[in-house]
Amino acid sequence: MAQAPSLASLGLAEARAGLLKKEFSARELAEACLDRVSETEPLISACLHVFRDEALREASLLDAAGPKAERILWGLPVTVKDVYLARGAPTTAGSRMLKGYVSGYEAEVVTRLRRAGAVLCAKTNLDEYAMGSSTEFSAFRPTRNPWDLSRVPGGSSGGAAAGISARQAPGAFGTDTGGSIRQPAALCGCVGLKPSYGRVSRYGIVAYGSSLDQAGPLARSVSDCGLLLAAVAGPDGKDSTSSRIPPEDYASLSPPEPGRLRFALPRELWEARFDPETEKVLRAALRLLEGAGASLEAVPMPALRFSVAAYYVLAAAEASTNLARYDGVRYGYRAPEKSDLLGLYRGSRTAGLGREARRRILLGTFALSSGYYDAYFRKAAQVRRLIHDAFSGVYKGFDFILAPVSSVPAWPLGSFTDDPLTQYQLDMMTLPLNLHGGPGLSLPAGLGGDGLPVGIQILGPAFREKPLLEAGLLLEGLFPRLPEPPLKAL
Ligand code: GLN
Repeated sequence: MAQAPSLASLGLAEARAGLLKKEFSARELAEACLDRVSETEPLISACLHVFRDEALREASLLDAAGPKAERILWGLPVTVKDVYLARGAPTTAGSRMLKGYVSGYEAEVVTRLRRAGAVLCAKTNLDEYAMGSSTEFSAFRPTRNPWDLSRVPGGSSGGAAAGISARQAPGAFGTDTGGSIRQPAALCGCVGLKPSYGRVSRYGIVAYGSSLDQAGPLARSVSDCGLLLAAVAGPDGKDSTSSRIPPEDYASLSPPEPGRLRFALPRELWEARFDPETEKVLRAALRLLEGAGASLEAVPMPALRFSVAAYYVLAAAEASTNLARYDGVRYGYRAPEKSDLLGLYRGSRTAGLGREARRRILLGTFALSSGYYDAYFRKAAQVRRLIHDAFSGVYKGFDFILAPVSSVPAWPLGSFTDDPLTQYQLDMMTLPLNLHGGPGLSLPAGLGGDGLPVGIQILGPAFREKPLLEAGLLLEGLFPRLPEPPLKAL
């Protein structure tokens, strides 16, 4: 595969500078990205819907009015995961259930992106209803990893991460309920930010686990993630869980003095069993950071050992409630008319929802049912509180928590599709953050000897995304820069 054409390879900040100086037009930039989409889609299948005509039309309109520096994403191509409603466009959430569904309103994030001047180019592939870690549970097709086409891109925002890595667009939005932004970012070698719960509006985003879901950006650099966050962050009256704490200025970041930073390294995560290549890259990253003068200290966080168990009860419980609305009557897929109502529900949900989504609904319904509620849901909620307190305790003595994102690199397609428990276990590094609620930034730590990217994550106190991004800037400067992915099977 040829290298991406130069305009499609530009990051958001560089492209923004070029647009404002009129070195190229918004239409030329959109065209370069959309051409790259056409060239790479047959290899990676990152997109579920591509808006070529609409995007070019939008870019031409922007050009006609002239660059506007106050719109921080002016003329910049972005994608959104196919759980964000966009007016007049289809939204499937990766499910047959919503095939053909076109929303009459739009996610607040999409509205704010448009207001900031962004050009929406595509909606990206995901595991059905964002339930999964590999994008193989998409009802339509799996997405492939640009670093090795025989491997998964991670998930559930796998299309977003693969598209960023393959230079289809310089910015993307995903959602992170238990790692779905940070883990695919790590496996595809890009940067992904899960903001604090409540930092970004969830209005108009298809719900999975409502107390855990958070929207956030993916890009090829930390500062580009800052630009994307700046465009969408802040209170929204249409989402009662959005926070009124005013956003910080995420668009102008400067790296902190490393000698002042104290990082906590949770033992429970760093002492996990790692793929040896992954561990080598992570240890080298820690040495670089220590060499720069930062202080790194192992800390016990015993409650983290229960995060997989607690998360999969809580997320499944919320999913079973959220997905009850897909009854074959109000949305999308409806089974051929049955004589009775129960038959219609059963037929529609059995044929409309995939295996993993049905498994989560059953698990969640069980955990919430009377007689089991105390044993499962209530217990899990208590563990969540312990994990929250463990984070708060650590932040009293440290600026940030530093953790791996995944103990393994991208795995070959099909490895775990019949082994859900193993796949759930692989989420152990990302789930604690969602149970805490604070922000986390995943960025590339380097390439393993097998040529696959390895990610590391910095976690920080709630609503302090700016210092988190600034610490990310420091790490990004220390760690090796990744080349463009080869876009072939290894
Ligand atoms: N892999 C986790 C799950 O399947 C997280 C998914 C997500 O963050 N949306 O639930």
